[in-house]
Amino acid sequence: MEYLTMTIREQKNIALIAHDGKKQEMLQWCIANREILKKHHLCGTGTTARMITEQAGLSVKGYNSGPLGGDQQVGAKIVEGQIDMVIFFSDPLTAQPHDPDVKALLRIAQVYDIPIANNKATADFLMHSTFMDTCYEHQVENFKQAVEHRAATL
Ligand code: PGA
Repeated sequence: MEYLTMTIREQKNIALIAHDGKKQEMLQWCIANREILKKHHLCGTGTTARMITEQAGLSVKGYNSGPLGGDQQVGAKIVEGQIDMVIFFSDPLTAQPHDPDVKALLRIAQVYDIPIANNKATADFLMHSTFMDTCYEHQVENFKQAVEHRAATL
C-alpha cells in the first residue's frame, strides 16, 4: 500500500493566515463567509487569528505570529492530521522575512493533499464547494511504509 485513504470530515479544521498587506482583505472575507466558517474549527497565525476573533466575531485558536514560527506550527499540525484546509492570503508584492517558512507550508500542504487557497477567488471557490458540507476522502502517501522501506534498504 503506497497510499493511505484519509478522510476530511464534514466539520473541518481550517487554518487562516494573512500577510500584513492582506489582513484587511482576510478580515472582510471572514465577515462575508462567517456563516460558513462558524460551522468549522478555526485556527491561524497569531495576529491574523486575533484580528478575526476580535473583529469578525469568529473564534480562532491562535498559534505564534507567522514570522515567529506560526506558519511552521500550522505545517506541523497538517503533518499530525489536525488541519484539513488552509486559507492563506499571502502578499505577492512584499518580501517576507519568513519566506522559507511560507514555502515549507505550501510544500507540506501539497505533500498531504490539503486544500490550500492563496487568494480570495480560490478561497471563495473552496467555501462554495459541495465538499464543505460532506466528508472527503483522499490519498496520502503511506509514510509508515515508506519509513519501514527506507530503514530496511538505505
Ligand atoms: P500573523 O502571521 O498572522 O501573525 O501576522 C502571518 C504571516 O505573516 O505568516
